[in-house]
Formats: sequence, structure tokens, C-alpha cells
Amino acid sequence: MGLLLGLSLSGQVISEELVCKEHQRIQTQLSRRNNSGVKHGYLIDYNRCKWWVNPIKGAYFKGDVMAHFTVIAKTDSVGFDLSSNLQVDQVYGKDGQPLNFRRTGNQLYVFKAGGWNAKERDSVGIVYQGNPTNGGGFGYFVHDNHMKGPVVHTLSEPYGAQYWWPCKQTLHDKIDSLDVWVYTDTSMRVASNGLLMRNEVLGDTQRLMVWQHRYPIATYLVAIAVTNYSTYTQYAPLVGRSKPLPVVNYVFPQFRTDAERETRDVLPMIRLYDSLFVPYPFEKEKYGHAQFTWGGGMEHQTMSFMVNFSYDLMAHELAHQWFGDMVTCGTWQDLWLNEGFATYLTVMTTEYLKSKSEANGKLRGMRSNITGNDGGSVFPSDTLNVGNLFNGRLTYNKGAWVLHMLRDKLGDSAFFEGCRQYLNGKNTTYGFAKTADLSWYMEQASGRKLDTFFQQWYYGEGFPYLKINWKQKGKTVTLTCEQTPSHNSVPYWHVRIPLLLRGEGKEKLILWEPKQLLGELKTTVDFEMDTLIFDPNVKLLAKVSVGGMNLNQVQENAFVLYPNPTAGTFVLYARNPSAIQMEIYDVVGQKVREMDTKGNVTKQLTVSLDALASGTYFLRINDGNFVYSYKLIKN
Ligand SMILES: [Zn+2]
Repeated sequence: MGLLLGLSLSGQVISEELVCKEHQRIQTQLSRRNNSGVKHGYLIDYNRCKWWVNPIKGAYFKGDVMAHFTVIAKTDSVGFDLSSNLQVDQVYGKDGQPLNFRRTGNQLYVFKAGGWNAKERDSVGIVYQGNPTNGGGFGYFVHDNHMKGPVVHTLSEPYGAQYWWPCKQTLHDKIDSLDVWVYTDTSMRVASNGLLMRNEVLGDTQRLMVWQHRYPIATYLVAIAVTNYSTYTQYAPLVGRSKPLPVVNYVFPQFRTDAERETRDVLPMIRLYDSLFVPYPFEKEKYGHAQFTWGGGMEHQTMSFMVNFSYDLMAHELAHQWFGDMVTCGTWQDLWLNEGFATYLTVMTTEYLKSKSEANGKLRGMRSNITGNDGGSVFPSDTLNVGNLFNGRLTYNKGAWVLHMLRDKLGDSAFFEGCRQYLNGKNTTYGFAKTADLSWYMEQASGRKLDTFFQQWYYGEGFPYLKINWKQKGKTVTLTCEQTPSHNSVPYWHVRIPLLLRGEGKEKLILWEPKQLLGELKTTVDFEMDTLIFDPNVKLLAKVSVGGMNLNQVQENAFVLYPNPTAGTFVLYARNPSAIQMEIYDVVGQKVREMDTKGNVTKQLTVSLDALASGTYFLRINDGNFVYSYKLIKN
């Protein structure tokens, strides 16, 4: 799911009953947890959904949903999730005969004589109707107007499928195969998952459109959107294949001309992801966009719903077809595996299809957003709260930065190989993945241990503050780094700090991994340094202050300080009266005071340090000809 900039997510809290089903016990240790949890006692094989909806008449909705399933262990009931707000008219078995059912809250239990045996395959049909409530979240079932016509769309992520259809709402089990039949007004068109198999006018007033999807699909990715769409198809050529991939667009008629120009930008993106990672996961069918009125985009499988066709939003939702749809987060606590990847692939799209400097600009912007607040982890502390779960600063931006740093740590070759193994993994492909799965595949691809990396960057809150100082004397540059973690959940950040030493038109890049909170490093340079640049290539998530001086350019004894040490005030005497600029730095190179005689020649200057803490300070005095440096102690 992607949100356009400037809009904020609602901090809506959803009912606990709903969330218990998805809520996993928080695990502080990384382990590859078992994906085989089965809800309602069966595995879902196939859904045939028949829906009647006419946006011209309102939000009223009628359905006949048949579920084919395989029972795990002998049971006398099978369960479905369906909002109590919707009325169930009938439940029937595969012979068409009615079955008994019971409703408890948002659960529907179906019974048959003798129950079901272990491994039995069976099917159940549910006929229902009503006016679906929005139910919370981002608006799970919405009746709206796009100015030139009424529209109905669904958006089930994370907990909303049951608000409009009887389903098995879970992150454990995908629907293996799906048919969507929608009956609507003749003036309407229906966008959905998979391939359009039928589009027929029945009688004078009714249109039937049938979509067929033959890939596994998570329940929350099943969707329909119905309005007076204008439709067109474009084609993305794929490397090494003779047949291009159809990209089917369903757009509001008034935006058709602009849309046709804008959606062309998605074609090279498909080619890029397809060749960087693994082939487009739903190649036998299609990719597509359907316009809707919610303020962002939603990656419904093979058919992303879009408020508009802005470059980054298209990149984000397309990226989800691999990261989110093909491989789906295994719990909502792993949502960053969807959103972090989609956000990072938007940066990568800029890097590969536009320019590296523009991509770095995006990364810098995200970094200042993340470090604008000292706390917060990629791991969501509260998945019940949709605003907390889909937190733009953490789940999206920090998640993307974690992947960016992982790529830097492992190198491109191992990073992309790890991504491919993750997408193609026996336990993950067309299924679900947890953070431990990503860590495991990245370790396999790189041969590196990543426990510490994920422990600090996934579970840990915040980031490191770094105070970096430099001094050059002769050829030797002494660097000091003082680290302060922004949050106490991480006592020490293991980071590699890129530093660029620069002077006289020359430069030297240093990658420094300090081993403690206060680190010191000596290095030599063959130039007179004047500048230290932190992280020139934008690789580290940290907040930094930099200070320093070149002692080779400092002359002594032109000034006298008295008293030194001082209790609070000292006097600066000049041997030759001069106009000066003076700066005072603390031990970590932070400037704490500056004075300027503004061209007035002065013999002596009284300076008060009353406002400063006790300790050692450095004075840097510039008389227009030379820079002088002195150490001063305040008791
Ligand atoms: Zn997203």
C-alpha cells in the first residue's frame, strides 16, 4: 500500500477481536517460525465469488461465494470470517442442498451431518447481502463518486476482507485459485485480479464480467472496483521473452488522455524489476492499474488500485507484485517486508532509470524524516492500530533504509542474489515470509552472519548520534567519534562510518567501524586537509555533527590567555593589536561560542565562560593572516 505525500494515515484502532486472529506473540529472538498455522481447520483451495453491485444505486451488495477446501483433521464444523453486519440468506453444500450454520460475532460456522473427515475435500456456498460498513482501516468497502460517475471499490488490507465477503482471513494460507464474477449495470466496467474471461451484456440492464486468477493469492489482495471505466492496454517488453506483458489500465474517463501518457512510465519499471530480481510473478496473466478515489495506491494482485499515475506511486505498487504479493508478509509484524521493499524499490527505480544523485536525494529526505524522532522501530509495537502498523516513518522509510544498508553491507551481488533466493525460496515463493526468512536467505547468499544487523535495525529503536572530530598535525589525521544511541533499546550501534577527508583538491575515503562509544582512529594523508565530509554516498542512517581543524596551519604565541585554567572569565591579550574572529569549541568539536571584533583593532578582550560546563575547550582565533589555536580549561 502506498500513500501519497501530504496525506496522513488515520490512527484508527480496530477491534481487538479482529486482530487477535492475526496477532502473533512478540518474539525478541529471530527464528524461522513455522508457517503452517491453520485457521478454521482447513486449507483453502479455490474461491468462486459471484457479486452483484451497482454503484449507480448505492453500496448495496449481494454475494454468492463458494469455497473449495481441504479439511486438516476430523471436524464437525468449518468456519468463515464474515461481518455480522451482512445478512446470510443461505449456506449450501456441493450438492446444492442447504447446510446448517451458526453466527457468532464476525464468525460463520457451517455444519453438515456426520461432519468432515481428515483430508476430505469439499465445498460450501454462502449467499449473503447487505450494505457493507467501511469497518475501519482505510475504508474496506467504499461507495464514492469520482466527479464523472459513482464508483465502488474494496481495499481489504489489513483486516477488512470479512467486511464484504465470507472468507478465511489469514496470513497463513493463500487461496490457490480464484474466479470473480461481477454483475453490474451495463454502463459499468469491473476491474479485478487475473485475466478477463467474459464481458457480456445480459438482457437490457445487466453486465457480467468474469475475472480468473490462477496463482496463489492472499485473502487481503482479492479486490474489485466498479465504475464507468475507460480501458486500454499497453505492453511491457521483457528481457529474453518474445511475448510482452500486457498492462491493462482501467481509468476514470476524464483522465484517459493524461493517464495514457503517464502509465507508459511503468513499462520500463516492469522490465527493470523482472531482470533485477525474478521474472514478473504473474506473467501468464497481466499487470494492471485501476483508478480509485482513496488517497494512495493498493497493490491488489495483478491489478493495483491507484488514485493517480504518479511515477513513484506506480513504482511502489508495482514493486509489491514481487514483495507483498508473490511473497507476502507472514505476520503483520513483518509488514516492512512488503512496505520497506516497495519503498526501497522506488528509490532503486530512480537510481536505475533516472540518476544516482536523484536517488541519493530521496534517501537523504527519508533519513531526515526517520531521524526527526529519536524512537521507533521497523518492528511495529502495536499491529492493532492501523496508523502505527502502516507508519510512514518506520515501516516504510526506516524499512527501506534497513534494506539500503543491508545492500551496502553485503554488496550488490550478494544482496540481489539474497533477494532472488528469498523470492524463489521453497518456503516463501508464492507464500509467506517473516523477517527471519529474509535474514536467512541473505546469510545464505553472502556467507555473513546477520543476527546483530537485524537485531539492532529491525527490533531496535532509533539510530546513532555521532559527534565526529578531526585534527591534522603533520601528515597524521586523528579522528574521534563519540556515539550516543538515540534510544536505550540499542546500547551500542555497530556501524561503519564513511568519512571523506578533503583538502588541496585531493581526498581520501575512510570506512571506519569504531568498536566502542568513544572511538579514535589515526590515518595519514598527503595533503593539507580542510574539510571532513560525513557519508558522501549516503550509506548510513545516523545523525551527525562534524568539527575539526588543521593544526599545521595554526601559529602559537601570538596571543596570551590569562588565567588558564579559569573559574569562568579569562582575558585574551594580543602581542600585536589586531582585529580578530574567535571561535570556541568543546572537546568533541562542537562550536559553543563565537566572537568577532568586526574590524576593530583590539589589544585585549575579556571573555566569560560562565554559561559553559567545566571542561576543556579549544579557541580558534583568526587575525586575518593566520589561524591560531589554544587549549583552555574551565574549572
Ligand atoms: Zn505499499
